[in-house]
Amino acid sequence: QAKAAGRGNFQLYDPQLDRANVRDLVLGEEIRTALAERQFELHYQPVIDVATGVAVGFEALIRWQHPERSWIAPNEFIDYAEKHRLIEKIDRYVLRQALQQMCIWRANTGTAPKVSVNISGRHFASPEFINTVLSLLEEFEIPPNTLGIEITERAVIDKFAIAQNNIQILQKHHIRVLLDDFGTGYSSLNYLHQLTLDVLKIDRTFVKGSRGNQQENPIINSIVALAAAMNLTVVAEGVETEEELKVLQAAGCDLCQGYYFSKALPAEQAIQYFLEHQTAIVGI
Ligand code: C2E
Ligand code: MG
Ligand code: MG
Ligand code: MG
Repeated sequence: QAKAAGRGNFQLYDPQLDRANVRDLVLGEEIRTALAERQFELHYQPVIDVATGVAVGFEALIRWQHPERSWIAPNEFIDYAEKHRLIEKIDRYVLRQALQQMCIWRANTGTAPKVSVNISGRHFASPEFINTVLSLLEEFEIPPNTLGIEITERAVIDKFAIAQNNIQILQKHHIRVLLDDFGTGYSSLNYLHQLTLDVLKIDRTFVKGSRGNQQENPIINSIVALAAAMNLTVVAEGVETEEELKVLQAAGCDLCQGYYFSKALPAEQAIQYFLEHQTAIVGI
């Protein structure tokens, strides 16, 4: 870009690039501080049984309560953390936080909601990931079948053999593995076929704005049918309207989550929601 400015008009540096670098450096430092000072918090979005309206558990979603700014959304720092080798630290923090919370809920309410945690692909496909999960489960005495690990297609594809192996090890320990954002990005049926997953999560892009009958929603219906044929549970993300819910019910989708039911809530409110949604609603 300095060249583009023309001869005799040299720019020593591109101020825009410089600003980006400074922001990056600051972000890295801030993430380290946030981990040390426990500024990250998990919120829990209820996961609902489509047919009955019963809450079956939660997806844990990270929230950053920065002391000087208002909260920062994961999209603003997860990518950075993945690039700069901070994601392992964040993932471990999140796992510990979620399992500790599950332990508290169990002690206080006698219930064991299922909780799924998002794990970055790079971290998932690493040898030490399994040990981290197993030792935390043991530390908090959590029944392994109440924990789910959400990974994306991207994660799986980058290091296929290790990912495939780790999926199998987790399942041998009865930990569920969920494929997140299904249908976006790579979605190779060949990969899907070679993985022993438990759950497919239909990305919100396919749910958004859906209405009407089955012929009018071929993608949702196809993904649900595919999941059924492969013996996988299917979860729809980002349900915001009654029309969308009706489409999912007609398709035979198992579970869903979205603002129509609830956004991600702080732990206290989340367990309250869970306890209040244990009875089936007829004709939901
Ligand atoms: P995701 O795993 O696909 O999570 C779903 C995102 O959709 C969440 O955004 C959630 O708040 C949002 N959402 C849920 N229901 C609705 C709805 O009805 N409408 C709309 N418009 N949005 C809805 P969030 O919390 O901002 O997270 C964004 C992404 O960041 C997540 O996508 C996930 O990939 C990543 N992420 C979140 N928490 C963690 C974490 O603890 N660790 C890692 N590695 N990644 C995380
Ligand atoms: Mg997720
Ligand atoms: Mg998702
Ligand atoms: Mg998504």
